Amino acid sequence: MSLSDYVRVMPKAELHVHLQGATQPETLLHLAQRNGITLPAETVEGIREWYTFQDFDHFLSVYDLICECFRSGEDIELALREFSAGQAAQNIRYTEVTFTPPRRIPWPEQFAALRRGREWALTEHGIIINLILDIPREYDAAVGNLIADWAIDGSRAGVVVGLGLGGPERGNPAARFADAFEKARASGLPAALHAGEVVGPESIWDALAHGFSARIGHGVRCLEDPRLVEHLRDRQIPLEVSPSSNVLLGVCSSLAEHPLPRLLDAGLYVTVNSDDPPMFNTTLTDEFLRCAEAFGWGAERIEQLTLNALRVAFYSERQTLVEQYLAEFARLREQFGIQTCEPVESASHIGP
Ligand SMILES: [Zn+2]
Repeated sequence: MSLSDYVRVMPKAELHVHLQGATQPETLLHLAQRNGITLPAETVEGIREWYTFQDFDHFLSVYDLICECFRSGEDIELALREFSAGQAAQNIRYTEVTFTPPRRIPWPEQFAALRRGREWALTEHGIIINLILDIPREYDAAVGNLIADWAIDGSRAGVVVGLGLGGPERGNPAARFADAFEKARASGLPAALHAGEVVGPESIWDALAHGFSARIGHGVRCLEDPRLVEHLRDRQIPLEVSPSSNVLLGVCSSLAEHPLPRLLDAGLYVTVNSDDPPMFNTTLTDEFLRCAEAFGWGAERIEQLTLNALRVAFYSERQTLVEQYLAEFARLREQFGIQTCEPVESASHIGP
């Protein structure tokens, strides 16, 4: 059996993927039709072509129109169900999905829909989906405070497990949302901010100082500042790395040039993620397989990165999941005839 067969069936975990950015063409057509929204194409193939990455502006216009199609709690629930089915098909048993809450839908309606979608994923597929609400960077502090309030409210029922910050990084520092992140921290809600993707190390320092970021979304540009690398390594602050996203958004020129091997060599805490899978023509499974090919990874490395994700999940039962995954890895390795060896241990984590 090949490594690719093993990677396809092994249990996986994902921490950085966007619900709106993961909307499949079929789902988008359905949402647009029921809300009377005109899309640039009317067929699955047409939408797939429109999704195809061209440049950052096109990417943002696609993303914005997807967000426009979320008009009600039913829309959110449908998108979350379809997303969950896709995660289950890859045997991703634990996911933290980032959702940008549309302000046009009352929060109680959004919350009820997220809760229903999450319960459906657990009942129908036996997988855990937890939510991170994210603040779009381009908005003002008041929007940040509002979304922080929603996230804190959502966390009381265990539906929302974190607060994020996404959107255009340049010119929109985390410092603007310091009150929102302070409020979340005071309520025990951890944060995972996008930083160090388009902007360099100063954005990561900003996310750590003003966003209390327990994990960093992307963070790959930390390598430009040795003092920051040391800081991240000493504290084992996890990076949510999304290789295909980085290549297409021009953070690096090709997967072969991706800094992932250097991040690992530097002793940093790394996880691998798909970010906006249909837009980057990828899945978490594909990310692992592409990296395995580009960097010569074996099963141990992919198991390690999977366990890395679980160990820093914003989820109280994460240690139970680690044990379940280890048992499943051992069982599958035997079934697939992959030589038994201990997974590479990650460095000890000083977590949220
Ligand atoms: Zn992202």
